[in-house]
Amino acid sequence: MLLAPTSAAQEDTGSTPGERAPRTASPTPPPFGACLQQAYPESICGLEAGHLVFCDGDRMQIAEVAAMFAERYPREALTGVPTTDPGRTRHEPLFLKLYGADKAAVRGTLATVVWMPKTVGRKLKVTARHGVAARLQKVSDELDQLPAPIRQIVADTSGTFVWRKIRGTDRLSMHSFAIAIDVGVPNADFWKWRKTYRNRIPLEVVAIFEKHGFIWGGKWLHFDTMHFEYRPELLNPLCAP
Ligand SMILES: [Zn+2]
Repeated sequence: MLLAPTSAAQEDTGSTPGERAPRTASPTPPPFGACLQQAYPESICGLEAGHLVFCDGDRMQIAEVAAMFAERYPREALTGVPTTDPGRTRHEPLFLKLYGADKAAVRGTLATVVWMPKTVGRKLKVTARHGVAARLQKVSDELDQLPAPIRQIVADTSGTFVWRKIRGTDRLSMHSFAIAIDVGVPNADFWKWRKTYRNRIPLEVVAIFEKHGFIWGGKWLHFDTMHFEYRPELLNPLCAP
C-alpha cells in the first residue's frame, strides 16, 4: 500500500497521475516508516518506495533507520533489570531533519515550559517542533498532581537544550535537539557511576512521560534513570507489537 501524501508541499512534486500509478504496486513499506510518519507529520510528509519523504522534498531510506527499532521498547512497567538498550540507537541524520541541522536552527524552535508550576515553577526551554513543548507541559502538569513525596523526587531538572556530543562518542546527545529532559537529578543512577542497576525514579512518573511520547533511560541496560526523551515512534504498537 502506498500511503498518500498528506501535505500541500508533498503534493506539489510535479509528478503526474500517470507517473504515480505504477508505484501503487510497490510492496508494503516497513511499518517503522509508518510509525515515523505518524510520529513526525510536521517533517515527514510521505512514504515512497522504501523511503521517508520529508516535507522539504528530501528523502531518506527507511532501511537506514530500521536499526532504531531493533530492540523493542517495553511499554509495560519495569519489572526487572533491563537487558537491552531500546532507543539508545538513533540515526542522527533523521534527528537533524526533524529538529534542525545545527545549534542555531534548534535554538530557533525553542518554546517555554513551566516545569511543575505548583511545585517548582521553573521555566525550561525545549523544542516546539512535533508538539514536544506542549507535551512536556502536559507531563509537567500531571506530575504536579502526584503526592508531594513523589513530586519532590523529580522536581529538580537539568539539561533540556544543550548542543553537545555524548561524552566519549562522536554522536550528538538528544539534548542537542531539545527533546530530552533529566529529572530528579539528586536521585539519578547512571551506568557509568554504578556497577549494578538501581532506580529511584518512581514508576508513576515514568508512566506519565510514556503516555505523552517520552521514553525513559531507566529501561536501558546502560541505564540513565533521570533521562527522558521524546521518541513516540518507539511507543507505537504498530512498530513494537
Ligand atoms: Zn539526559
